[in-house]
Amino acid sequence: MTTVSPNVESDRAATPTTDREDTVCVIGAGSAGIAMCRALALRDIPFDCYERRSEIGGLWRYPAQGGSTCAYMSLFANTSKTVMQYPSYPMPDGYPDYPHHTQVARYFDDYVDHFGLRKHIRLETEVTRVEPATGGGWAVTLGDGTVHRYRAAMVASGGRHGVPVYGQFDGTFTGREIHAVDYDGPADFAGQRVVILGLGATSADIATEVSRVAAATHLSVRTGHYVVPKILEGHPIDKLSPFMKKLSVEQRRPLLTLMIKIVHGDMTAYGLPAPPYKPGQGPLISNSEFLPAIVHGRIAPKPTITAVEGRMVRFADGQAVEADAIIHCTGYRIAFPFLDDALVSGGEDAPPLYHLVVPPEIPGLYFIGLIHSMMSLMPLAEFQSEWVGDLLTDAVGLPSRAQMWSQIRRARRRQDKRFHSSSGHLLVDPNEYERLIAAERRTYATTDRADVRTVTRWKR
Ligand SMILES: Cc1cc2nc3c(=O)[nH]c(=O)nc-3n(C[C@H](O)[C@H](O)[C@H](O)COP(=O)(O)OP(=O)(O)OC[C@H]3O[C@@H](n4cnc5c(N)ncnc54)[C@H](O)[C@@H]3O)c2cc1C
Repeated sequence: MTTVSPNVESDRAATPTTDREDTVCVIGAGSAGIAMCRALALRDIPFDCYERRSEIGGLWRYPAQGGSTCAYMSLFANTSKTVMQYPSYPMPDGYPDYPHHTQVARYFDDYVDHFGLRKHIRLETEVTRVEPATGGGWAVTLGDGTVHRYRAAMVASGGRHGVPVYGQFDGTFTGREIHAVDYDGPADFAGQRVVILGLGATSADIATEVSRVAAATHLSVRTGHYVVPKILEGHPIDKLSPFMKKLSVEQRRPLLTLMIKIVHGDMTAYGLPAPPYKPGQGPLISNSEFLPAIVHGRIAPKPTITAVEGRMVRFADGQAVEADAIIHCTGYRIAFPFLDDALVSGGEDAPPLYHLVVPPEIPGLYFIGLIHSMMSLMPLAEFQSEWVGDLLTDAVGLPSRAQMWSQIRRARRRQDKRFHSSSGHLLVDPNEYERLIAAERRTYATTDRADVRTVTRWKR
Protein backbone atom coordinates (compact mmCIF):
# COMPACT_ATOMS: atom_id res chain seq x y z
CA MET A 1 0.00 0.00 0.00
CA THR A 2 1.60 3.31 -1.08
CA THR A 3 0.80 6.54 0.73
CA VAL A 4 0.04 9.29 -1.74
CA SER A 5 -0.98 12.92 -1.49
CA PRO A 6 -4.67 13.58 -0.83
CA ASN A 7 -6.78 13.34 -3.96
CA VAL A 8 -10.24 14.24 -2.75
CA GLU A 9 -11.89 17.52 -1.79
CA SER A 10 -10.15 20.07 0.39
CA ASP A 11 -12.18 19.23 3.52
CA ARG A 12 -10.47 15.88 3.53
CA ALA A 13 -7.05 17.30 2.73
CA ALA A 14 -5.73 16.51 6.22
CA THR A 15 -6.86 12.89 6.04
CA PRO A 16 -4.19 10.32 5.18
CA THR A 17 -5.01 8.85 1.80
CA THR A 18 -3.68 5.54 0.55
CA ASP A 19 -3.47 4.49 -3.02
CA ARG A 20 -4.68 0.99 -3.77
CA GLU A 21 -4.95 1.67 -7.45
CA ASP A 22 -4.55 -1.96 -8.56
CA THR A 23 -7.00 -3.11 -5.95
CA VAL A 24 -10.76 -3.47 -6.02
CA CYS A 25 -13.05 -2.54 -3.12
CA VAL A 26 -16.11 -4.61 -2.18
CA ILE A 27 -18.66 -2.87 0.04
CA GLY A 28 -20.54 -5.38 2.19
CA ALA A 29 -19.92 -9.03 3.08
CA GLY A 30 -23.47 -10.34 2.77
CA SER A 31 -24.39 -13.10 0.33
CA ALA A 32 -23.66 -10.87 -2.70
CA GLY A 33 -20.42 -9.38 -1.37
CA ILE A 34 -18.83 -12.75 -0.56
CA ALA A 35 -19.75 -14.07 -4.03
CA MET A 36 -17.93 -11.07 -5.50
CA CYS A 37 -14.95 -11.71 -3.21
CA ARG A 38 -14.77 -15.30 -4.49
CA ALA A 39 -14.78 -14.22 -8.14
CA LEU A 40 -11.97 -11.72 -7.44
CA ALA A 41 -9.90 -14.25 -5.46
CA LEU A 42 -10.20 -16.87 -8.21
CA ARG A 43 -8.80 -14.35 -10.69
CA ASP A 44 -5.99 -13.18 -8.38
CA ILE A 45 -7.41 -9.66 -8.48
CA PRO A 46 -6.29 -7.89 -5.29
CA PHE A 47 -9.25 -6.65 -3.23
CA ASP A 48 -10.39 -5.33 0.14
CA CYS A 49 -13.90 -6.05 1.37
CA TYR A 50 -15.37 -3.79 4.04
CA GLU A 51 -18.18 -4.99 6.29
CA ARG A 52 -19.66 -2.68 8.91
CA ARG A 53 -20.88 -5.50 11.16
CA SER A 54 -18.78 -7.81 13.29
CA GLU A 55 -19.61 -10.90 11.19
CA ILE A 56 -20.14 -11.76 7.54
CA GLY A 57 -23.51 -12.97 6.18
CA GLY A 58 -25.53 -9.75 6.03
CA LEU A 59 -29.20 -10.04 6.80
CA TRP A 60 -28.90 -13.75 7.62
CA ARG A 61 -26.81 -12.95 10.68
CA TYR A 62 -29.12 -12.66 13.65
CA PRO A 63 -28.91 -11.06 16.12
CA ALA A 64 -27.01 -8.30 14.36
CA GLN A 65 -24.20 -6.80 16.42
CA GLY A 66 -24.58 -3.02 16.53
CA GLY A 67 -27.82 -2.53 14.60
CA SER A 68 -31.02 -4.16 13.45
CA THR A 69 -31.37 -6.76 10.73
CA CYS A 70 -34.26 -7.85 8.55
CA ALA A 71 -33.85 -11.38 9.97
CA TYR A 72 -35.66 -12.57 13.09
CA MET A 73 -35.09 -15.34 15.58
CA SER A 74 -37.53 -17.77 13.96
CA LEU A 75 -36.58 -17.06 10.32
CA PHE A 76 -36.35 -20.07 8.00
CA ALA A 77 -35.49 -19.73 4.33
CA ASN A 78 -38.57 -19.47 2.13
CA THR A 79 -36.61 -20.77 -0.84
CA SER A 80 -35.25 -24.30 -0.78
CA LYS A 81 -31.56 -25.02 -0.34
CA THR A 82 -31.17 -26.31 -3.91
CA VAL A 83 -32.42 -23.01 -5.27
CA MET A 84 -30.59 -20.90 -2.72
CA GLN A 85 -27.11 -22.40 -2.68
CA TYR A 86 -24.27 -20.99 -4.75
CA PRO A 87 -23.66 -23.10 -7.88
CA SER A 88 -19.97 -23.39 -6.92
CA TYR A 89 -20.57 -24.57 -3.35
CA PRO A 90 -23.62 -26.61 -2.32
CA MET A 91 -25.30 -26.47 1.06
CA PRO A 92 -24.47 -29.54 3.19
CA ASP A 93 -26.45 -32.74 2.50
CA GLY A 94 -27.46 -32.77 6.16
CA TYR A 95 -29.29 -29.44 5.87
CA PRO A 96 -33.10 -29.55 5.70
CA ASP A 97 -34.81 -28.45 2.49
CA TYR A 98 -35.60 -25.06 4.04
CA PRO A 99 -32.73 -24.16 6.40
CA HIS A 100 -32.94 -21.99 9.51
CA HIS A 101 -31.16 -18.63 9.37
CA THR A 102 -28.40 -19.95 11.67
CA GLN A 103 -27.66 -22.68 9.10
CA VAL A 104 -27.65 -20.21 6.21
CA ALA A 105 -25.20 -17.98 8.14
CA ARG A 106 -22.97 -20.98 8.91
CA TYR A 107 -23.02 -21.91 5.21
CA PHE A 108 -21.77 -18.41 4.35
CA ASP A 109 -18.97 -18.80 6.91
CA ASP A 110 -17.99 -22.13 5.30
CA TYR A 111 -18.07 -20.52 1.82
CA VAL A 112 -15.77 -17.71 2.97
CA ASP A 113 -13.33 -20.19 4.57
CA HIS A 114 -13.47 -22.66 1.68
CA PHE A 115 -12.44 -20.00 -0.83
CA GLY A 116 -9.93 -18.36 1.55
CA LEU A 117 -11.71 -15.01 1.56
CA ARG A 118 -11.61 -14.13 5.26
CA LYS A 119 -8.20 -12.46 5.16
CA HIS A 120 -9.55 -9.92 2.65
CA ILE A 121 -12.62 -8.93 4.72
CA ARG A 122 -12.29 -6.09 7.23
CA LEU A 123 -15.11 -6.39 9.75
CA GLU A 124 -16.54 -3.53 11.80
CA THR A 125 -15.47 -1.13 9.07
CA GLU A 126 -18.17 1.06 7.61
CA VAL A 127 -17.79 2.69 4.21
CA THR A 128 -19.14 6.21 4.56
CA ARG A 129 -18.42 7.66 1.12
CA VAL A 130 -17.63 6.34 -2.36
CA GLU A 131 -16.87 8.91 -5.04
CA PRO A 132 -14.84 9.28 -8.20
CA ALA A 133 -11.22 10.01 -7.27
CA THR A 134 -9.20 12.75 -8.86
CA GLY A 135 -6.96 11.09 -11.39
CA GLY A 136 -9.25 8.09 -11.86
CA GLY A 137 -10.57 5.24 -9.80
CA TRP A 138 -12.73 5.50 -6.69
CA ALA A 139 -12.10 7.29 -3.42
CA VAL A 140 -13.51 5.19 -0.60
CA THR A 141 -13.85 6.84 2.81
CA LEU A 142 -14.07 4.62 5.89
CA GLY A 143 -15.70 5.27 9.24
CA ASP A 144 -12.33 6.20 10.76
CA GLY A 145 -12.01 9.04 8.24
CA THR A 146 -9.27 7.43 6.13
CA VAL A 147 -9.63 7.62 2.37
CA HIS A 148 -8.36 4.93 0.01
CA ARG A 149 -8.20 5.06 -3.75
CA TYR A 150 -9.32 1.91 -5.57
CA ARG A 151 -9.40 0.84 -9.16
CA ALA A 152 -13.06 -0.16 -8.96
CA ALA A 153 -15.85 -0.30 -6.37
CA MET A 154 -18.34 -3.16 -6.02
CA VAL A 155 -21.50 -2.09 -4.25
CA ALA A 156 -22.86 -5.18 -2.44
CA SER A 157 -24.40 -3.38 0.51
CA GLY A 158 -27.87 -4.94 0.31
CA GLY A 159 -29.32 -1.65 -0.97
CA ARG A 160 -32.75 -3.20 -1.64
CA HIS A 161 -33.35 -3.25 2.10
CA GLY A 162 -31.90 0.23 2.60
CA VAL A 163 -34.50 2.18 4.62
CA PRO A 164 -37.62 0.73 6.29
CA VAL A 165 -40.88 2.08 4.84
CA TYR A 166 -43.83 2.57 7.23
CA GLY A 167 -47.53 2.39 6.35
CA GLN A 168 -49.29 5.77 6.38
CA PHE A 169 -52.55 6.55 8.18
CA ASP A 170 -54.15 9.45 10.04
CA GLY A 171 -54.10 9.84 13.83
CA THR A 172 -51.84 8.81 16.69
CA PHE A 173 -51.53 5.25 17.94
CA THR A 174 -50.72 4.97 21.64
CA GLY A 175 -49.71 1.29 21.60
CA ARG A 176 -46.39 -0.13 20.47
CA GLU A 177 -45.50 0.45 16.81
CA ILE A 178 -42.53 -1.26 15.13
CA HIS A 179 -41.25 -2.10 11.66
CA ALA A 180 -40.47 -5.71 10.70
CA VAL A 181 -36.77 -4.80 10.81
CA ASP A 182 -37.11 -4.48 14.60
CA TYR A 183 -39.22 -7.64 15.05
CA ASP A 184 -37.40 -10.23 17.17
CA GLY A 185 -39.93 -12.99 17.57
CA PRO A 186 -43.47 -13.65 18.77
CA ALA A 187 -42.72 -13.74 22.53
CA ASP A 188 -43.05 -9.95 22.84
CA PHE A 189 -46.64 -10.16 21.62
CA ALA A 190 -47.96 -12.96 23.86
CA GLY A 191 -51.52 -12.18 24.95
CA GLN A 192 -51.60 -8.94 22.95
CA ARG A 193 -53.92 -7.67 20.23
CA VAL A 194 -51.74 -7.14 17.19
CA VAL A 195 -52.32 -5.53 13.79
CA ILE A 196 -49.83 -6.45 11.07
CA LEU A 197 -49.61 -4.29 7.97
CA GLY A 198 -48.80 -5.53 4.49
CA LEU A 199 -48.77 -8.89 2.72
CA GLY A 200 -45.45 -10.42 1.67
CA ALA A 201 -43.14 -13.26 2.66
CA THR A 202 -42.14 -11.51 5.90
CA SER A 203 -45.63 -10.51 7.02
CA ALA A 204 -46.99 -14.00 6.27
CA ASP A 205 -44.23 -15.44 8.50
CA ILE A 206 -44.67 -12.88 11.27
CA ALA A 207 -48.48 -13.02 11.27
CA THR A 208 -48.41 -16.81 11.44
CA GLU A 209 -46.06 -17.01 14.40
CA VAL A 210 -47.53 -14.03 16.28
CA SER A 211 -50.98 -15.58 15.91
CA ARG A 212 -49.85 -18.60 17.95
CA VAL A 213 -49.35 -16.50 21.08
CA ALA A 214 -51.32 -13.27 20.56
CA ALA A 215 -54.83 -12.67 21.87
CA ALA A 216 -55.83 -11.46 18.37
CA THR A 217 -53.93 -11.08 15.10
CA HIS A 218 -55.30 -8.83 12.35
CA LEU A 219 -53.60 -8.60 8.99
CA SER A 220 -54.26 -5.39 7.07
CA VAL A 221 -53.72 -5.96 3.34
CA ARG A 222 -53.89 -3.42 0.52
CA THR A 223 -52.55 -5.53 -2.37
CA GLY A 224 -53.20 -9.25 -2.73
CA HIS A 225 -50.49 -11.76 -3.68
CA TYR A 226 -50.38 -15.47 -4.48
CA VAL A 227 -49.52 -17.86 -1.67
CA VAL A 228 -48.08 -21.29 -2.45
CA PRO A 229 -47.10 -24.16 -0.12
CA LYS A 230 -43.43 -24.88 0.54
CA ILE A 231 -43.84 -28.54 -0.39
CA LEU A 232 -45.69 -30.01 -3.37
CA GLU A 233 -45.78 -33.74 -4.10
CA GLY A 234 -43.15 -34.26 -1.43
CA HIS A 235 -40.62 -31.82 -2.96
CA PRO A 236 -39.76 -28.18 -2.37
CA ILE A 237 -42.09 -26.25 -4.63
CA ASP A 238 -39.31 -24.16 -6.19
CA LYS A 239 -37.31 -27.20 -7.34
CA LEU A 240 -38.00 -27.02 -11.07
CA SER A 241 -37.21 -29.82 -13.49
CA PRO A 242 -34.51 -29.03 -16.12
CA PHE A 243 -37.34 -28.86 -18.67
CA MET A 244 -39.35 -26.31 -16.64
CA LYS A 245 -36.22 -24.20 -16.16
CA LYS A 246 -36.02 -23.73 -19.91
CA LEU A 247 -39.54 -22.32 -20.11
CA SER A 248 -40.21 -18.60 -19.85
CA VAL A 249 -42.41 -17.19 -17.08
CA GLU A 250 -45.22 -16.90 -19.63
CA GLN A 251 -44.83 -20.52 -20.75
CA ARG A 252 -44.91 -21.74 -17.15
CA ARG A 253 -47.95 -19.59 -16.25
CA PRO A 254 -50.74 -22.06 -17.17
CA LEU A 255 -49.14 -24.73 -14.97
CA LEU A 256 -48.59 -22.31 -12.09
CA THR A 257 -52.17 -21.02 -12.36
CA LEU A 258 -53.53 -24.58 -12.33
CA MET A 259 -51.35 -25.54 -9.36
CA ILE A 260 -52.50 -22.51 -7.32
CA LYS A 261 -56.12 -23.24 -8.24
CA ILE A 262 -55.89 -26.90 -7.17
CA VAL A 263 -53.84 -26.36 -4.02
CA HIS A 264 -55.23 -23.14 -2.53
CA GLY A 265 -57.98 -21.91 -4.85
CA ASP A 266 -58.93 -18.27 -5.02
CA MET A 267 -57.14 -15.98 -2.53
CA THR A 268 -60.44 -14.16 -1.90
CA ALA A 269 -61.78 -17.37 -0.31
CA TYR A 270 -59.46 -16.54 2.62
CA GLY A 271 -60.69 -12.96 2.91
CA LEU A 272 -57.58 -11.65 1.12
CA PRO A 273 -57.79 -9.25 -1.85
CA ALA A 274 -57.43 -10.84 -5.30
CA PRO A 275 -53.89 -10.24 -6.63
CA PRO A 276 -54.08 -7.50 -9.30
CA TYR A 277 -51.85 -9.53 -11.64
CA LYS A 278 -51.48 -13.03 -13.07
CA PRO A 279 -49.42 -15.78 -11.37
CA GLY A 280 -45.75 -15.31 -12.24
CA GLN A 281 -46.01 -11.54 -12.66
CA GLY A 282 -44.73 -11.02 -9.11
CA PRO A 283 -42.91 -13.05 -6.45
CA LEU A 284 -44.91 -15.85 -4.84
CA ILE A 285 -45.29 -16.10 -1.08
CA SER A 286 -44.08 -19.56 -0.20
CA ASN A 287 -45.59 -20.48 3.16
CA SER A 288 -47.39 -23.65 4.27
CA GLU A 289 -48.77 -22.32 7.55
CA PHE A 290 -50.17 -18.89 6.71
CA LEU A 291 -53.45 -19.81 4.96
CA PRO A 292 -54.20 -22.58 7.51
CA ALA A 293 -53.78 -19.93 10.26
CA ILE A 294 -56.47 -17.88 8.50
CA VAL A 295 -58.86 -20.80 8.15
CA HIS A 296 -58.24 -21.70 11.81
CA GLY A 297 -59.37 -18.17 12.66
CA ARG A 298 -56.00 -17.21 14.19
CA ILE A 299 -55.34 -14.49 11.60
CA ALA A 300 -58.15 -12.12 10.60
CA PRO A 301 -57.56 -10.44 7.22
CA LYS A 302 -58.59 -6.77 7.08
CA PRO A 303 -58.45 -4.05 4.44
CA THR A 304 -56.17 -0.98 4.65
CA ILE A 305 -55.95 1.05 7.84
CA THR A 306 -57.60 4.44 7.38
CA ALA A 307 -56.97 5.96 10.82
CA VAL A 308 -55.81 5.25 14.35
CA GLU A 309 -56.98 6.88 17.55
CA GLY A 310 -55.38 5.88 20.83
CA ARG A 311 -55.61 2.06 20.79
CA MET A 312 -58.37 2.01 18.16
CA VAL A 313 -57.44 1.00 14.59
CA ARG A 314 -59.99 1.76 11.85
CA PHE A 315 -60.10 -0.05 8.50
CA ALA A 316 -61.34 0.96 5.06
CA ASP A 317 -64.46 -1.24 5.36
CA GLY A 318 -65.66 0.72 8.44
CA GLN A 319 -64.60 -1.96 10.97
CA ALA A 320 -62.46 -1.01 13.95
CA VAL A 321 -60.44 -3.09 16.43
CA GLU A 322 -58.52 -2.30 19.60
CA ALA A 323 -54.84 -3.11 19.37
CA ASP A 324 -51.78 -3.14 21.64
CA ALA A 325 -49.26 -3.24 18.81
CA ILE A 326 -48.88 -2.49 15.11
CA ILE A 327 -46.13 -4.21 13.10
CA HIS A 328 -45.33 -2.52 9.77
CA CYS A 329 -44.30 -5.19 7.25
CA THR A 330 -44.37 -2.57 4.55
CA GLY A 331 -41.01 -3.14 2.96
CA TYR A 332 -37.92 -1.07 2.35
CA ARG A 333 -36.69 1.71 0.11
CA ILE A 334 -33.51 1.26 -1.89
CA ALA A 335 -30.68 3.35 -0.41
CA PHE A 336 -26.95 3.82 -0.90
CA PRO A 337 -26.09 6.44 1.74
CA PHE A 338 -22.39 6.43 0.78
CA LEU A 339 -23.07 7.33 -2.87
CA ASP A 340 -24.09 10.70 -4.23
CA ASP A 341 -27.77 10.43 -5.24
CA ALA A 342 -27.17 12.34 -8.43
CA LEU A 343 -24.51 9.80 -9.37
CA VAL A 344 -26.71 6.75 -9.34
CA SER A 345 -30.41 7.16 -8.84
CA GLY A 346 -31.49 9.98 -11.12
CA GLY A 347 -34.49 10.29 -8.76
CA GLU A 348 -35.71 6.77 -9.55
CA ASP A 349 -36.22 3.71 -7.39
CA ALA A 350 -32.98 2.12 -8.56
CA PRO A 351 -30.12 3.35 -10.72
CA PRO A 352 -30.40 2.47 -14.41
CA LEU A 353 -28.04 -0.48 -14.80
CA TYR A 354 -26.99 -2.56 -17.78
CA HIS A 355 -28.15 -6.10 -16.94
CA LEU A 356 -28.88 -4.68 -13.47
CA VAL A 357 -25.16 -4.48 -12.66
CA VAL A 358 -23.30 -1.85 -14.73
CA PRO A 359 -24.11 1.90 -14.71
CA PRO A 360 -23.31 2.83 -18.34
CA GLU A 361 -21.94 6.28 -17.51
CA ILE A 362 -19.88 5.37 -14.45
CA PRO A 363 -16.85 3.22 -15.27
CA GLY A 364 -15.48 1.17 -12.40
CA LEU A 365 -18.68 1.07 -10.32
CA TYR A 366 -20.68 -2.18 -10.21
CA PHE A 367 -23.80 -3.25 -8.29
CA ILE A 368 -23.88 -6.86 -7.09
CA GLY A 369 -27.09 -8.32 -5.70
CA LEU A 370 -29.36 -5.37 -6.40
CA ILE A 371 -31.79 -7.63 -8.21
CA HIS A 372 -35.04 -9.06 -6.90
CA SER A 373 -34.99 -12.71 -7.88
CA MET A 374 -38.30 -14.54 -8.12
CA MET A 375 -36.51 -17.34 -6.28
CA SER A 376 -33.12 -16.67 -4.75
CA LEU A 377 -30.34 -14.13 -5.01
CA MET A 378 -27.27 -16.23 -4.15
CA PRO A 379 -26.77 -18.12 -7.45
CA LEU A 380 -27.43 -14.94 -9.42
CA ALA A 381 -24.97 -12.96 -7.29
CA GLU A 382 -22.37 -15.56 -8.21
CA PHE A 383 -23.21 -15.26 -11.94
CA GLN A 384 -23.02 -11.46 -11.72
CA SER A 385 -19.71 -11.67 -9.88
CA GLU A 386 -18.18 -14.00 -12.46
CA TRP A 387 -19.20 -11.57 -15.20
CA VAL A 388 -17.78 -8.55 -13.36
CA GLY A 389 -14.61 -10.53 -12.60
CA ASP A 390 -14.21 -11.15 -16.32
CA LEU A 391 -14.85 -7.48 -17.08
CA LEU A 392 -12.06 -6.54 -14.66
CA THR A 393 -9.57 -8.93 -16.27
CA ASP A 394 -10.70 -7.84 -19.75
CA ALA A 395 -11.67 -11.42 -20.55
CA VAL A 396 -15.01 -9.90 -21.49
CA GLY A 397 -15.83 -6.43 -22.80
CA LEU A 398 -18.89 -4.20 -22.61
CA PRO A 399 -20.93 -2.99 -25.57
CA SER A 400 -20.95 0.75 -26.35
CA ARG A 401 -22.70 3.14 -23.95
CA ALA A 402 -25.43 3.72 -26.54
CA GLN A 403 -26.01 -0.04 -26.77
CA MET A 404 -26.14 -0.36 -22.99
CA TRP A 405 -28.72 2.44 -22.72
CA SER A 406 -30.77 0.93 -25.47
CA GLN A 407 -30.74 -2.45 -23.68
CA ILE A 408 -31.74 -0.78 -20.39
CA ARG A 409 -34.72 0.92 -22.06
CA ARG A 410 -35.73 -2.32 -23.81
CA ALA A 411 -35.45 -4.31 -20.57
CA ARG A 412 -37.56 -1.76 -18.67
CA ARG A 413 -40.30 -1.78 -21.31
CA ARG A 414 -40.32 -5.57 -21.17
CA GLN A 415 -40.41 -5.54 -17.34
CA ASP A 416 -43.36 -3.12 -17.40
CA LYS A 417 -45.27 -5.44 -19.71
CA ARG A 418 -44.42 -8.69 -17.96
CA PHE A 419 -44.44 -7.91 -14.26
CA HIS A 420 -46.70 -6.25 -11.73
CA SER A 421 -45.76 -2.59 -11.24
CA SER A 422 -44.94 -2.85 -7.51
CA SER A 423 -42.09 -5.22 -8.41
CA GLY A 424 -40.12 -2.31 -9.85
CA HIS A 425 -37.47 -2.86 -12.48
CA LEU A 426 -35.40 -5.29 -10.50
CA LEU A 427 -37.52 -8.45 -10.62
CA VAL A 428 -35.92 -11.27 -12.60
CA ASP A 429 -36.74 -14.85 -13.41
CA PRO A 430 -33.55 -16.59 -12.21
CA ASN A 431 -33.32 -19.04 -15.09
CA GLU A 432 -33.70 -16.34 -17.71
CA TYR A 433 -31.24 -14.08 -15.92
CA GLU A 434 -28.63 -16.85 -15.72
CA ARG A 435 -28.99 -17.37 -19.48
CA LEU A 436 -28.77 -13.61 -20.09
CA ILE A 437 -25.49 -13.25 -18.19
CA ALA A 438 -24.05 -16.40 -19.82
CA ALA A 439 -24.95 -15.05 -23.28
CA GLU A 440 -23.41 -11.66 -22.41
CA ARG A 441 -20.14 -13.32 -21.39
CA ARG A 442 -20.05 -15.38 -24.57
CA THR A 443 -20.96 -12.51 -26.88
CA TYR A 444 -18.38 -10.07 -25.55
CA ALA A 445 -15.65 -12.58 -24.69
CA THR A 446 -12.24 -11.35 -25.76
CA THR A 447 -10.61 -14.73 -25.20
CA ASP A 448 -11.67 -18.30 -25.84
CA ARG A 449 -11.31 -19.27 -22.18
CA ALA A 450 -13.77 -22.03 -21.43
CA ASP A 451 -14.69 -20.60 -18.02
CA VAL A 452 -16.12 -17.50 -19.66
CA ARG A 453 -19.00 -19.71 -20.71
CA THR A 454 -20.42 -20.56 -17.33
CA VAL A 455 -19.89 -20.40 -13.59
CA THR A 456 -17.67 -23.26 -12.48
CA ARG A 457 -20.12 -25.59 -10.82
CA TRP A 458 -19.29 -27.69 -7.80
CA LYS A 459 -18.26 -31.23 -8.64
CA ARG A 460 -18.63 -33.87 -5.94
C1 LIG B 1 -36.67 -11.33 6.06
C2 LIG B 1 -36.07 -11.74 4.75
C3 LIG B 1 -36.08 -13.08 4.38
C4 LIG B 1 -35.49 -13.49 3.19
N1 LIG B 1 -35.53 -14.81 2.86
C5 LIG B 1 -34.95 -15.21 1.72
C6 LIG B 1 -34.95 -16.61 1.36
O1 LIG B 1 -35.52 -17.44 2.04
N2 LIG B 1 -34.31 -16.96 0.23
C7 LIG B 1 -33.67 -16.04 -0.56
O2 LIG B 1 -33.09 -16.45 -1.56
N3 LIG B 1 -33.69 -14.73 -0.26
C8 LIG B 1 -34.29 -14.29 0.84
N4 LIG B 1 -34.28 -12.97 1.17
C9 LIG B 1 -33.67 -12.01 0.22
C10 LIG B 1 -32.28 -11.51 0.67
O3 LIG B 1 -32.23 -10.22 0.18
C11 LIG B 1 -31.15 -12.32 0.11
O4 LIG B 1 -31.31 -13.62 0.60
C12 LIG B 1 -29.72 -11.90 0.47
O5 LIG B 1 -29.30 -12.39 1.69
C13 LIG B 1 -29.37 -10.43 0.38
O6 LIG B 1 -27.95 -10.38 0.32
P1 LIG B 1 -27.13 -9.07 0.06
O7 LIG B 1 -25.70 -9.44 0.16
O8 LIG B 1 -27.59 -8.41 -1.18
O9 LIG B 1 -27.55 -8.07 1.23
P2 LIG B 1 -27.29 -8.19 2.80
O10 LIG B 1 -27.49 -9.55 3.29
O11 LIG B 1 -28.11 -7.11 3.41
O12 LIG B 1 -25.74 -7.83 2.95
C14 LIG B 1 -25.23 -6.53 2.76
C15 LIG B 1 -24.05 -6.34 3.70
O13 LIG B 1 -23.46 -5.07 3.45
C16 LIG B 1 -23.12 -4.47 4.68
N5 LIG B 1 -23.07 -3.03 4.50
C17 LIG B 1 -24.10 -2.21 4.12
N6 LIG B 1 -23.68 -0.95 4.04
C18 LIG B 1 -22.37 -0.96 4.35
C19 LIG B 1 -21.38 0.06 4.44
N7 LIG B 1 -21.68 1.33 4.18
N8 LIG B 1 -20.12 -0.28 4.80
C20 LIG B 1 -19.80 -1.58 5.05
N9 LIG B 1 -20.70 -2.58 4.99
C21 LIG B 1 -21.96 -2.28 4.64
C22 LIG B 1 -24.23 -4.93 5.62
O14 LIG B 1 -23.84 -4.83 6.98
C23 LIG B 1 -24.46 -6.36 5.17
O15 LIG B 1 -23.65 -7.26 5.86
C24 LIG B 1 -34.88 -12.53 2.33
C25 LIG B 1 -34.90 -11.18 2.69
C26 LIG B 1 -35.49 -10.79 3.88
C27 LIG B 1 -35.51 -9.33 4.22
